[in-house]
Amino acid sequence: MKSYRKELWFHIPTRRAFVNITPQVVECLKESGIKEGLLLCNAMHITASVFINDDEGGLHHDYEVWLEKLAPHEPVSGYRHNVGEDNADAHMKRQIMGREVVVAVTEGKLDLGTWERIFYGEFDGRRKKRVLVKIIGD
Ligand code: ZN
Repeated sequence: MKSYRKELWFHIPTRRAFVNITPQVVECLKESGIKEGLLLCNAMHITASVFINDDEGGLHHDYEVWLEKLAPHEPVSGYRHNVGEDNADAHMKRQIMGREVVVAVTEGKLDLGTWERIFYGEFDGRRKKRVLVKIIGD
């Protein structure tokens, strides 16, 4: 069995954003040479997510509005976590959107559904953060 590991780095200039990272993940898969197996992709930070959904701007806007309703950034004083920091909402948004995805690798390709794309969800950006890609198989 082969094993591959890579860290992808992101520096999102805004507090929140969604980035389609499918092309970078596909590059990792090519680099790994693995044809059959499993790919894990996870955010390595507790205020960022990796998730799979549609690459559609309206939906991303809707996520932003929905997440702000669930865990509004302001007022930052409304969260007990926000002592010396202001990112309690980002921890909660990350929890809802998830930490990781697992994708089957079949015949050297990501075995995704037609509209499925892999996204990095940033909820407390303006600094460098990492995503792990781990692939195992043959
Ligand atoms: Zn925090």
